[in-house]
Amino acid sequence: MKITVVGTGYVGLVTGTCFAETGNEVTCVDIDANKVKKLSAGQITIYEPGLEKLFERNLKEERLSFTTSLEEGIKDAEVIFLALPTPPGEDGAADLSFVLYVADQLGKLLTDYKVIVDKSTVPVGTAEKVIAAIAKNCKTPFDVVSNPEFLREGVAVDDFMKPDRVVIGTTSERARKVMGELYAPFVRQGNPVLFMDEKSAELTKYAANSFLATKISFMNEIAILCERLGADVDMVRRGIGSDDRIGKRFLFPGIGYGGSCFPKDVQALVKSSEDAQYDFKILNAVMDVNEKQKLFLLPKIKAYFKNNLKGKHFALWGLAFKPNTDDIREAPALYIIDALLAEGATVSVFDPEAMGNVKQIVGDKIIYAEHQYTCLDNADALIIATEWSVFRTPDFHKISATLKNQAIFDGRNLFEVQRMKELGYHYESVGRIPAI
Ligand code: NAD
Repeated sequence: MKITVVGTGYVGLVTGTCFAETGNEVTCVDIDANKVKKLSAGQITIYEPGLEKLFERNLKEERLSFTTSLEEGIKDAEVIFLALPTPPGEDGAADLSFVLYVADQLGKLLTDYKVIVDKSTVPVGTAEKVIAAIAKNCKTPFDVVSNPEFLREGVAVDDFMKPDRVVIGTTSERARKVMGELYAPFVRQGNPVLFMDEKSAELTKYAANSFLATKISFMNEIAILCERLGADVDMVRRGIGSDDRIGKRFLFPGIGYGGSCFPKDVQALVKSSEDAQYDFKILNAVMDVNEKQKLFLLPKIKAYFKNNLKGKHFALWGLAFKPNTDDIREAPALYIIDALLAEGATVSVFDPEAMGNVKQIVGDKIIYAEHQYTCLDNADALIIATEWSVFRTPDFHKISATLKNQAIFDGRNLFEVQRMKELGYHYESVGRIPAI
């Protein structure tokens, strides 16, 4: 099939590459000329494990191409995917201007039947708005499908190639057939393709992300309670996770969720609820808990340094909002950096993939270390904000030889409390019983 993907960010580039991998001819369109230039020249623009190999192969086989021209990009396409940003607007609602702008343009360009697929995360009712925006300038028949994306950054290729489920919102039989054919190679193991109406599909994505965010905030509150009551969150987590109705996954406490999806999607669903005159109490609490959780380590750090961080220097491991990505949108590490700088401290950082992205935003207010161990030079303590595998079994002798104080503040519970005690560290983590 000939496919167009509009927007070549984390979702668009993975979508385009994976559809090319199953033999489709894919043209990706982006307004960012620099991105298109790099991608056309075979230079990948995001870090996503496993993507580069597929990207290179399909580019070489000429199943994958890039352009800045929407007109050229959609010329022979049967299906047009919109993988455009839907950032939070000022009131918290999803900003649909990127999606509706492209829909408006498409209305002026369509000359034959096409299926336009919304892959962006969008509020209920967006398919109708997209139809209206296209139809304004267009007499050609078309269908608009809501096909929310559930891939996770860091394992996006696997998620796309073997999705738990594919959700397709359409009431058009013609579009349903096209979409079913397109996704058939990805669900050969029998995972479901769930056909539903557009509104249900749109809401499914928000419900999924909001539920997962709720799980995180719930566990973060349990962790707080564990510290106050003298219980161990690791034990509680295992105790509840072995119940099938709860499940083992997504129960790890930490310093809050970040990324480009959970924060904005929870916020957008709350706003949609408000617009529908409904006060979604749980989600308001989820957001509130998460805001506080990002700075969970700060009082512990301050207490250790007797409430005076002025002139102190901190090493911070982990900048990405989660491991295996270079995405730093809403990353808790950025909030910690801001808080430390505001207290008059200085910070050296290290992250395996996200340093470049942080540099663009934070600039020279912090020091960018070349290695996780040089990051420790002159540091009074180490803070861990992302659970990259490479931080899990570090050389503790190197750490103690370099740090001025044997103090580690771990926002991701990477190490055993007892072991850290034996190694002589002042070790603080999230929701666990201090070693005796
Ligand atoms: P992104 O910011 O990484 O990428 C968006 C791309 O769209 C950028 O390359 C941008 O230049 C391009 N763009 C903007 N306006 C354009 C236009 N007029 N024409 C062509 N290209 C244009 O965003 P993303 O993370 O890929 O997210 C896209 C959507 O998918 C969002 O709605 C998001 O909520 C949703 N989503 C994201 C993830 C994720 O893990 N990132 C997962 C599931 C769903």
